[in-house]
Amino acid sequence: MRTKEQPLIFELSRKGRKGDSLPELDVPDVSVEELLEDSYIRKEEAKLPEVSELQLVRHYTALSNRNFGVDSGFYPLGSCTMKYNPKVNEVVARMPGLSHIHPYQPEEQVQGALELMHELQESLAEMTGMKEVTLQSAAGAQGEWTGLMMIRAFHEANGDVERTKVIVPDSAHGTNPASASVAGFDSVTVRTDERGLVDLDHLREVVGKDTAALMLTNPNTLGLFEEDIVQMAEIIHSAGGKLYYDGANSNAILDKARPGDMGFDVVHLNLHKTFTGPHGGGGPGSGPVGVKEDLVPFLPKPLLIKKEEQYTWDYDRPQSIGRVKPFYGNFGINVRAYSYIRTMGLEGLKQVSEDAVLNANYLMKRLEPYYDVPYSQYCKHEFVVSAKRQKDQGVRALDIAKRLLDYGYHPPTMYFPLNVEECMMIEPTETESKETLDEFADALIAISKEVEENPDYVLEAPHHTVVSRLDETTAARKPILKHEQ
Ligand SMILES: *Cc1c(COP(=O)(O)O)cnc(C)c1O
Repeated sequence: MRTKEQPLIFELSRKGRKGDSLPELDVPDVSVEELLEDSYIRKEEAKLPEVSELQLVRHYTALSNRNFGVDSGFYPLGSCTMKYNPKVNEVVARMPGLSHIHPYQPEEQVQGALELMHELQESLAEMTGMKEVTLQSAAGAQGEWTGLMMIRAFHEANGDVERTKVIVPDSAHGTNPASASVAGFDSVTVRTDERGLVDLDHLREVVGKDTAALMLTNPNTLGLFEEDIVQMAEIIHSAGGKLYYDGANSNAILDKARPGDMGFDVVHLNLHKTFTGPHGGGGPGSGPVGVKEDLVPFLPKPLLIKKEEQYTWDYDRPQSIGRVKPFYGNFGINVRAYSYIRTMGLEGLKQVSEDAVLNANYLMKRLEPYYDVPYSQYCKHEFVVSAKRQKDQGVRALDIAKRLLDYGYHPPTMYFPLNVEECMMIEPTETESKETLDEFADALIAISKEVEENPDYVLEAPHHTVVSRLDETTAARKPILKHEQ
């Protein structure tokens, strides 16, 4: 827990203090005037703080300590799979043969790297029950868009140009309707019923000749398995639509169930979530997309293929939707995912699913006496609780999240999915111990008691952070990034 605000580096500045001390140059110096055009040369001194090297080191170390990450504490951010990023993956990703190569190198010099990518494609295809996988797209959202563009190309190739709608459940991740829109479709919302699952009757009402696809997350973002998936696939397929699987968080189904077997035609995975790529802070990500046989011609090009024992990029793909990312995807994240899959093995991945589900259910049951659990059947890798009860005391989910910061936890995902009031969406992940889960549950239980006994204290939280309540909108839209002197 942090207590005291450190002085900022500009306040520490003393005229003439320096961060370096090197002997005079004993070789001829080149002047800036010789190197740069006049317009690039600074006319007055930069207003930089004048500090010692040690002060500078302390400044940046203090800043880094203000960051919260998986390596510093529990991070139960639902639908984000903030699980541990094994360090062996970092060792593998830094191997010179993988980290010192360039995408412009000739194929014959980088066969090892291509083999790794090809094996990764094949493992992901096998795990999801798809025919082929592309590693090109750099995020879940981009995977969604890529998949929808392929579905669109598929319908167009069949002369089926009236299919303008993509059906998305009201519990879906926000990227789903957004991707549909960017891919040129209108999204149609299908309701969730009282079980927390897609309302089949409503699905039958909204499906039609204009349906291009249904986008579904399964287990859905309430953490519930869509048990009617086979019927849903039948409804969509018989109307001529395709099924899109949002597999961003697949750690409940690894080696347990395959989207391909459920009837899905297109799948994206988030290697930066399920497959342990470090994420948060904007990337880099990797959102491979897998497709069933009839969509293979539309995959982005080039496609990595194996031909006569050589790995090669296939550009000769006339029906391809084209390139979706420069070069071949975020190779470094793909390497980490490959390393993870190889270190875990199939047995290990099955254990991942079992532990992710066990951890989520354990936590849900511990919290159930203190918070409303709107869907209390067994969950998969995540679950939602509602702070409805606490709202009656004037404390909202947001206040509880702020108070959790004082206990040293990253808050859960808030107010999502939208169909649950005062929602907190908790995903403990499989990598946390029972002790951590217990400590976190104890913190949330303690907060629920504080809400009853001293709600104002919770309303004013956080009390122990460097800064307290921020204007988050202004902080995001108009960040002040300069220290005014
Ligand atoms: C994270 C997530 C996405 C989006 O993935 P990005 O890599 O952030 O673009 C899509 N769907 C679900 C269910 C997710 O959890």
